[in-house]
Amino acid sequence: MASAQVHRIAVIPGDGIGHEVVPAALEALEAVAALDGSFRFAFDRFPWGCDHYLETGRMMPPDGLEQLRGYDAILLGAVGHPSVPDHVSLWGLLLPIRRTFEQYVNLRPVKLLRGVTSPLRGRGPDDIDFVVVRENNEGEYSNAGGRLFAGTPHEIVVQESIFTRRGVERIMRFAFELARRHPKRRLTSATKSNGISYTMPFWDEVFREMAARYPDVATDQFHIDALAARFVTHPHHFGVVVGSNLFGDILTDLGAAIAGSIGIAPSANLNPERQYPSMFEPIHGSAPDIAGKGIANPVGQIWSGAMMLEHLGHPRAGRRLLAAIEHALAERGVKTPDLGGSATTREMTQAIVRSLDEVP
Ligand code: ATP
Ligand code: MG
Repeated sequence: MASAQVHRIAVIPGDGIGHEVVPAALEALEAVAALDGSFRFAFDRFPWGCDHYLETGRMMPPDGLEQLRGYDAILLGAVGHPSVPDHVSLWGLLLPIRRTFEQYVNLRPVKLLRGVTSPLRGRGPDDIDFVVVRENNEGEYSNAGGRLFAGTPHEIVVQESIFTRRGVERIMRFAFELARRHPKRRLTSATKSNGISYTMPFWDEVFREMAARYPDVATDQFHIDALAARFVTHPHHFGVVVGSNLFGDILTDLGAAIAGSIGIAPSANLNPERQYPSMFEPIHGSAPDIAGKGIANPVGQIWSGAMMLEHLGHPRAGRRLLAAIEHALAERGVKTPDLGGSATTREMTQAIVRSLDEVP
């Protein structure tokens, strides 16, 4: 028998419910690998995050990025703790990983799973099934700016948005390539060029330049305010949506809400050129309000693991895991409290693992 391919994965549970949903995802991933037989995982755990910060003054060790560099992928839970300022947890771990490893694509499916009820009345799984491509390395979330005359009536505060031609072109190219393979063959761009006078007209310009090279992809664009409204009124319109760092962030929280719960939504931080590891994480945070109660929904984390499978070259195994998630929710009716059920994290995970045997 040929020996199974080994994928080395860096696992960072992080904080809060990360400690509950990451073990659930590892269990599901091990189960899929065992059924498939052609690959297996070697998981290395890194106890980084806010606890590490409270002990050492750092979210991860000084050589943390070097430690991660050689892995095939990174599976992250969530970082954040009420006693640690957000900018510390973000700039101490999450953003350095995304930026150093040029994970410039943040891919976030917005898909209503069978068995889940959308808050949009009358909408079913066929209506809500699209993908948001968020620019992940630049844009509005730059660290450039400053405050003058702080605390005085003359105070001035400036925050710069940084858009580079290289950065915008590469995210547009990725989005068009994805749209070309998407059943709807439509790419929608999120803009605000009526109010933001330099960066957004530039964004639109690159979108138009790139559209000329993809005549087979239907395109349209909406200002971010109107686009947010359209997510609610016309979710079936969308195939692939491309947005800047800030716009993509906001749109995907909305996307997660219309798809039933923030506890379900997955994401991939991709380095498409594969020079560096990509990172997979649910879009939710560390949820301190429910941490330690054993009721967190593990689906966002497990689905992120399914995206990791696809990235590692096992799309069939990824589809199988997602099918098992849907089977557990729809056929078994097992749901955590955020979905109106009463299942624990453990019960939800077991239902998904058992469902693996019942899906193709
Ligand atoms: P961040 O700043 O990291 O985005 P946040 O505090 O804004 O974090 P979350 O931690 O995602 O947001 O929590 C938002 C709400 O959603 C909380 O009420 C939380 O309990 C709930 N929530 C988040 N993730 C889950 C989950 N997996 N299962 C159930 N509820 C969740
Ligand atoms: Mg949040």
